[in-house]
Amino acid sequence: MKEFQLIRQIQQETAVSFSPDCDHGVRLGIGDDAAVLEIPAGQHLVAATDTLNAGVHFPVDTSAYDIAYKCLAVNLSDLAAMGAIPRWALLSLSLPQADAEWIQSFAAGFKSLAQMHGVSLVGGDTTSGPLSVSLTALGYIEPGKQLTRSGAQSGDLIVVSGSLGGAARVLDLWEVHKFTTERHLLDQPQPRVGLGQVLKGHANACIDVSDGLLADLGHILKASECGAHLIVEDLPYDDFLAGLEDELRWNYQLSGGDDYELLFTLPPEHRVLLATWSQQLDIGLTVIGEIEADGGTRCLRKDGTVFEPRSAGFEHFRQKS
Ligand code: ADP
Ligand code: MG
Repeated sequence: MKEFQLIRQIQQETAVSFSPDCDHGVRLGIGDDAAVLEIPAGQHLVAATDTLNAGVHFPVDTSAYDIAYKCLAVNLSDLAAMGAIPRWALLSLSLPQADAEWIQSFAAGFKSLAQMHGVSLVGGDTTSGPLSVSLTALGYIEPGKQLTRSGAQSGDLIVVSGSLGGAARVLDLWEVHKFTTERHLLDQPQPRVGLGQVLKGHANACIDVSDGLLADLGHILKASECGAHLIVEDLPYDDFLAGLEDELRWNYQLSGGDDYELLFTLPPEHRVLLATWSQQLDIGLTVIGEIEADGGTRCLRKDGTVFEPRSAGFEHFRQKS
């Protein structure tokens, strides 16, 4: 298969349909040296990029469908955490071989999520090499409305969407037994784009949980120069983790990666909004702790005793001990 055939297949099979009154501002898409995009008047461009490498960011047996889905999802999750509306994507593919069937599955996975969020693939790059997928997501936001890591205030509630620890548990089961029933928790994270929208103007700080709750909360605390406590019994979990012993589950929830939920801090007077948002978006929103003036993160049981987690989260290039 020639490179241009492969690009044409990607273009055709990822194309999402729009309503007739909205062409998403694609003035020039795939096929020229660069794409030309029209940002809605008065909006700012928001850009994020993330790479997934085989065997590092997804198990080598992951389907092409799920690789594409996840690669788009993790980037949309970054835009969601800023409060941006996603619109366009650029895709850089490194493939060991040009295989029409693989591309077909990849394009289908991409399209299923792209259609849900109205994202157009407008360009990219295709090379041969070890399997690696890099995606740049572009979107827009009202000037000054972005949700950042740096605005948390002492007394803010710490809130997380959905559930935590499922993806990390799936990965452990896969590595040990090469079998698990809940692969979607790892392979098809759901970017919380709608939640990012409603948080604007209310949340003081926001981040998406990709490297584990403690690690990502740590980024908010560092940027905001404050501390926090979490109540471990309050951490939300999927039914799939219900059978685990408490301490093992808490470790997955605190330190496991790949959750792609939004973690945000909310002034306590906005607590009443959580039930409305939760109903409107059909997503769990759980208060799991509180921002404090300083002192890092303390993990507490409800009885006030301290829980010491096993590790702080996933980090690339961490020295193996
Ligand atoms: P150039 O040599 O000018 O960089 P390419 O031949 O690499 O152009 O790409 C031709 C067109 O196809 C460009 O518009 C590019 O954005 C697009 N393209 C290449 N690879 C991909 C891909 N994996 N996904 C989407 N578009 C792609
Ligand atoms: Mg060129």
